[in-house]
Amino acid sequence: MKLKPFDLMAVIAVAVLAFVFALPILMQNGGASLEITTDTKTYTLPLDSERTHTVSSNSHTLILEIKDGSARVISHSCPDGVCAAMGAISSENQTIVCLPAKTVIRVTNADGEVLDGIAG
Ligand SMILES: [Zn+2]
Repeated sequence: MKLKPFDLMAVIAVAVLAFVFALPILMQNGGASLEITTDTKTYTLPLDSERTHTVSSNSHTLILEIKDGSARVISHSCPDGVCAAMGAISSENQTIVCLPAKTVIRVTNADGEVLDGIAG
C-alpha cells in the first residue's frame, strides 16, 4: 500500500491529536486515583490532591485524609477501627477495608471516571 501525501498528513494529524488527548491521561497516571466503594456506590477521587473526604456508608462515617499521594482513615465511627489501623495506602491495588461500613478504598491507576466535582 502506498500512502499519498494527503493520507500521510491525515495519519500525522490523527497521531498528533491522539497524543494531545492522551497527554492529560498520561499526566494523570503520575498521580493515581482512589476508588471508593461504599454500600451504595463506587466512585473515584484523584489521589494527587490534598483534602479530607468523608465517606458515609452503612450508617458509618469514615474520614479520609488524602495527602502527598497517599490516603488513610483519620476518623471512623466503626467499632473496630481496623480501617484506621491499616494506615496509609499509596501504591496501586493497596486497599483499606472497613467491614462495618461495607467500604473498600483502593488505589488504582485506571484512567477515566474521575469525578472531580465531589466535595469532601
Ligand atoms: Zn472501619
